[in-house]
Amino acid sequence: MKRKYIYVFLLVFGLLVVSYVHYQFNNNCKIVDILIINGTVITMDSNRTILESGTIVINDGAIVAVGASESLKSKFKAKETINVNGKIVMPGLINTHTHAAMVIFRGFADDLPTLEWLENYIWPAEAKYINAEVVRLGTLLAIAEMIRSGTTTFNDMYFFEDEVAKAAKEAGIRAVIGETLLDFPTPNKKTPQLGLKYTEMLIRKWRDDPLITVAVAPHAPYTCSPEVLIAAKNLSDKYNVPFHIHLSETKNEVNGIKKKYGLTPVEYLDNLGILGDNVIAAHCVHLTEKDIQLIVRRKVGVAHNPESNMKLASGVAPIPDLLSAGANIGLGTDGAASNNDLNMFEEMDTAAKLHKLFCHDPTVIDARTVVEMATIGGARILGLDEQIGSIEIGKRADVIIINTNNPHLIPLYDPYSQIAYTIDGADVETVIIEGKIVMRNHEILTISKEKIIQDVRVLSARIKEDSKK
Ligand SMILES: [Zn+2]
Repeated sequence: MKRKYIYVFLLVFGLLVVSYVHYQFNNNCKIVDILIINGTVITMDSNRTILESGTIVINDGAIVAVGASESLKSKFKAKETINVNGKIVMPGLINTHTHAAMVIFRGFADDLPTLEWLENYIWPAEAKYINAEVVRLGTLLAIAEMIRSGTTTFNDMYFFEDEVAKAAKEAGIRAVIGETLLDFPTPNKKTPQLGLKYTEMLIRKWRDDPLITVAVAPHAPYTCSPEVLIAAKNLSDKYNVPFHIHLSETKNEVNGIKKKYGLTPVEYLDNLGILGDNVIAAHCVHLTEKDIQLIVRRKVGVAHNPESNMKLASGVAPIPDLLSAGANIGLGTDGAASNNDLNMFEEMDTAAKLHKLFCHDPTVIDARTVVEMATIGGARILGLDEQIGSIEIGKRADVIIINTNNPHLIPLYDPYSQIAYTIDGADVETVIIEGKIVMRNHEILTISKEKIIQDVRVLSARIKEDSKK
């Protein structure tokens, strides 16, 4: 009997000691999910603070503290601590205009006049091959490419967007998805009215999801009737979601709309009551002074896609003028069939250089400006700047770590310069989205890159074989 009492006493005493130690530890040190320590942290906050030896504290998907490593290290204990030893840590990049699944048609038809490219190659190929399964597969390949090159949010406009949302969820990437509305039948829906119904279903289905935002996405002023454009705007207003459209991309489009309505495409959309702060207008290449004023006054977000505009010879968007007028601008890659990759580091580099050349002025669109466009600027035009685009307390934790221990990244005088001109997508080492590590040391953890590549190879072999017939 006595021995039994001793055992009970020892057990109770042991439990008391354990809980006391645990209590003391928790009191002094908060347990969090991830600590990133000793980083060169490019915060992109409103002061554009750069921390030389910074720590980011992540818990429950959010950034809960940012600051000097020395002061924060002792206050938190993490389930995972990543010591980045001076590497660059920055907000994940935001691709504000793409058609992800079009990676299936990467290199399928290049170097052609735009209309011939669309009418003789892209549209027939889409009609023949695009279905839910191909969109799923193509989107997964695009996501793998985007995560590997540091993109943590993409704004997509394509078909079967429910598949895009599901693929994004599976991979753990943030996405804005919009089903393309066209006056003619799409691979998914026979009429724009059915497309609008499908969009409303998507809005209801995904509205509480932390990663997915649904947009209403009429293709362009020249491919949608005014009735469809207005119905789309009403739907986006009803649910307070983004409205995503191609606008003033080519001279042909501008001439066609002018001929039909006596207005520029921007004036035309304004006349229909469409322009507003939820509008994401992709391209905006051919603008008048009045168009620029309208874009600024209506707070329309511009998605600038320099590489696609160059490859299709659409023209050069007046980005320096839009910026000095006060427009909100993000960067995008457009689809891979007109780029031909989804690498936002290349897009920053191209944007900065294109405008310098075009303006004969090396001071326009400096390095920091393109980094802003690819991060907080992009977040703003997608209406997500309260949640993402910078590394600040209270924002969702979308963070990338870039390995700067490579010859082409030495020395490091100015991080903005390195990000805009030197860092390549392949230098991105680790990607965190919504507080979850989706890529660690270049290895994607959420989806099987090998399986996706294998499946796309099988599909593309079939497309190649068919095109010989
Ligand atoms: Zn596009």
